[in-house]
Amino acid sequence: MTLVIDGREIALTLRNKLSKEIANLKKKYNKVPGLAVVQVGNVAASSVYVKAKTKSAKEVGIEVIDHHLDESISQNQLLEIIERLNQQNNVDGILVQLPLPKHINEQIILDAIHPEKDADGFHPLNVGKLSIASSNNENLLVPCTPYGCLLMLKNLNIDLVGKNAVVVGRSNIVGKPMAQLLIKESCTVTVAHSKTKDLKKICSDADILVAAVGRPKMIKGDWIKSSAIVIDVGINRIQIEKDGELKNKLVGDVDYNEAEKIASAITPVPGGVGPMTIACLLRNTTIAFKNLKNVKFL
Ligand code: NDP
Repeated sequence: MTLVIDGREIALTLRNKLSKEIANLKKKYNKVPGLAVVQVGNVAASSVYVKAKTKSAKEVGIEVIDHHLDESISQNQLLEIIERLNQQNNVDGILVQLPLPKHINEQIILDAIHPEKDADGFHPLNVGKLSIASSNNENLLVPCTPYGCLLMLKNLNIDLVGKNAVVVGRSNIVGKPMAQLLIKESCTVTVAHSKTKDLKKICSDADILVAAVGRPKMIKGDWIKSSAIVIDVGINRIQIEKDGELKNKLVGDVDYNEAEKIASAITPVPGGVGPMTIACLLRNTTIAFKNLKNVKFL
């Protein structure tokens, strides 16, 4: 029978662990981690993510420093704000919600975040550390979504060594760091993308299949090996007809109804990778706090 990997439950366990740790840090040092959340403009999906991240951060005891900025802010003004946050003592993590408006170069903004306050793990220094570090991730700032995927795999208590892992998607925020993390676990990793030939065949060889494409239900049941573990990162909004009305629905990059009949384990959308991403952001903020304040790992 296919195991449905419950991202909400695994994320809750991580958040509970962080709550306890932050309460202990507060008792011992009279300080808590601080997360600056920077949103520019009012993209609806960004507002939903920022709200969810802010709520979860506060729940575990992280102090949230909110910067909701007007869409018309210039790149230089935004850089000045980032620089102020870099200097601010009560800020340990800085999160800039993407996408930014078109007149702002995202990479310039991400590069301006102090690497030790890089709550998303997107700064080139942290990307480099991820690719050269040994297997211990404990104090690295690793991109949240792929790290959340890795935690879900580890939660299955299976041996990852030597497994064939296929990552579909090569973005800087998901696909590439996912591949790095799986290499560190001694998987044999293939990274596929839009120019990959015979993707179906490549996917059907995967023991672990991570889909991070952004195309609704692209990966079909007959692309999946029967013993495979499927991690669906995709979040796609589609419209379906229900009771004569068009309704919005969230679906992944994997055709769940087909895949759940075949895979040995699968993450649902929603309720899979999404909650893990948020929990890992809180984890990164706590790690940044400990690294910056030179606090021992408890
Ligand atoms: P990007 O658009 O940055 O990257 C998509 C990747 O998919 C690219 O590497 C692209 O290839 C590849 N791709 C596109 N079409 C195909 C195709 N037909 N066959 C094979 N590969 C293809 O997306 P992200 O990595 O940012 O996000 C991917 C998905 O994950 C999205 O649905 C996003 O919403 C979701 N997401 C979910 C998160 C969560 O918390 N659950 C967090 C972040 C993202 P190429 O490089 O050649 O263009």
